[in-house]
Amino acid sequence: MRESTKQLGLRIPADQYNKLQDYAKSQNKSMTELIIRIFDDFLDASTPGLCQFCHTLNSLDASYCQKCGEPLTEEAKKESDRLKEYYNNEDVLIRIVEKMLEKKGFEIVKKE
Ligand SMILES: [Zn+2]
Repeated sequence: MRESTKQLGLRIPADQYNKLQDYAKSQNKSMTELIIRIFDDFLDASTPGLCQFCHTLNSLDASYCQKCGEPLTEEAKKESDRLKEYYNNEDVLIRIVEKMLEKKGFEIVKKE
């Protein structure tokens, strides 16, 4: 699992906040940890559009996360795995480059 950055913004009534803060203290956790835990429990793996990597909530019909590009649906995951297999295969990569070079507009440029 890749390292994820979680950013959450919440507006909580003061009395609720105090209650949460007391609870966080009793659990030896920071407020942020506690709120992320609550969000994680609330938005579980079955939540449509929720990215399991960066926790971005995407639109319900999204196949890929708009923030990190990870697949969101089973179908997208299969497709992504298939592509990764391709891209990790050196022969396939060389063939793709050869095909690109055959087409006009592509050339190998040495990076300075
Ligand atoms: Zn994501």
